[in-house]
Amino acid sequence: MKVLVIGSGGREHAIVDALAHSHQLEKIYAAPGNGGIAAQAELAAIPADDVDALAAFAGEEKIDLTFVGPEAPLSKGIVDVFRRSGLKIVGPTADNARLESSKIYAKQFFKTHHIPTADFWECTTAEEAYGVLERVRPPIVVKADGLAAGKGVTVAETLEQARSAVHDLMEARTLGECGARVVIEEFLEGEEASFHLFADGVSFQPMVLAQDHKRRFDGDKGPNTGGMGAYSVDSILTPEQRDAAIRTIIRPTLENTKTYSGILYAGLMLTDAGPKIIEYNARFGDPETQVILPRLRTDLLEVLLDIAEHRLASRTLEWRGDATAAVVLVAKSYPGRVESGKRIAGLNEASRVEGVKVYHAGTRLQDGTVYTSGGRILNVTARGATLAKALDRAYSAAEMIEFEGKDYRRDIGRKGLVKQR
Ligand code: AMP
Repeated sequence: MKVLVIGSGGREHAIVDALAHSHQLEKIYAAPGNGGIAAQAELAAIPADDVDALAAFAGEEKIDLTFVGPEAPLSKGIVDVFRRSGLKIVGPTADNARLESSKIYAKQFFKTHHIPTADFWECTTAEEAYGVLERVRPPIVVKADGLAAGKGVTVAETLEQARSAVHDLMEARTLGECGARVVIEEFLEGEEASFHLFADGVSFQPMVLAQDHKRRFDGDKGPNTGGMGAYSVDSILTPEQRDAAIRTIIRPTLENTKTYSGILYAGLMLTDAGPKIIEYNARFGDPETQVILPRLRTDLLEVLLDIAEHRLASRTLEWRGDATAAVVLVAKSYPGRVESGKRIAGLNEASRVEGVKVYHAGTRLQDGTVYTSGGRILNVTARGATLAKALDRAYSAAEMIEFEGKDYRRDIGRKGLVKQR
């Protein structure tokens, strides 16, 4: 089979790597891919959100199955466009992707279907938002309605910070149109968990759990980022919490969407009152994918074909019982402005550490040398019999990689280790 993977991050590198192991794979393409993906797939220089160009490419190359990594093409209706052209693709329609692409839509959906979530206020004008802030007590969360690549959420400790977030989003429009409307939300206390599922419009199959580290600095300090690391181990949720999440959140969501198909990723907050949904994503998480897929024993391509053919119910997924961890190597100034083009050394040494796989996120390959290209650069991922072992291997490998301005969090997985003790 000829397969096309859309996207260019560490997530897509992990997806390509998993698909590359399939017996059914004849050829794999990535659009636009990156410096690491280039070693495993043929790259097509088409931006991930150029839906029409991607459909034309898939038609010309007679691609049998396309899989979408990022949210932007999904919200632009890539699945609808491919299906209209008779091209097989896995992902939700633009209509279903609104669970991610509009926070207001998602919150209304949760309310209508009695799905546990933080209390909220929708605001369509800045006056309305300032009015809400007069009636609430901090901490309080301010969120842009639209897609903002992880930059649209402010967890405000003070009302002053909340007002400033409203000003930036709604008046200064620092994130453009996606901040034209906002959701102001009750602050939920608890630990977070990333719960992913495969869904085919008829049934669903849960994946193993993961935990992301969104804040930039150790101890969950500093600004939110696209993700600084992740780990996967079964003890992230107790069996009771997992059952409650499926019963009160996942099932009512899938029963009330119009045949949701593809990957659904529930960002959960484990509160004293049980799991609540913080947000849905209509695709795999990044960097969660990098720790989830290495634990999947079943052939990913077969699972994607099951989704496309609506026969997921008859599949039993097999997962490895070990643990995985991913440390994200970033440029020092990330998530602020970064300088790209730094030469990366030590990749081969790092990859030789037992159980380690280095996924590329923001890299570029030029004349056989890998250079940085962006803020989140590499995901050093490792498997191990225990979480401690996986972390140990990932950190040993992370130290072997060199580039100017390299930085990473030193406390990935610490909460998981504490919980296990
Ligand atoms: P989101 O993009 O909605 O997932 O928000 C990004 C991050 O902000 C989440 O992963 C949480 O760490 C934090 N966050 C969002 N909403 C809340 C909330 N209601 N209470 C506490 N933290 C939140």
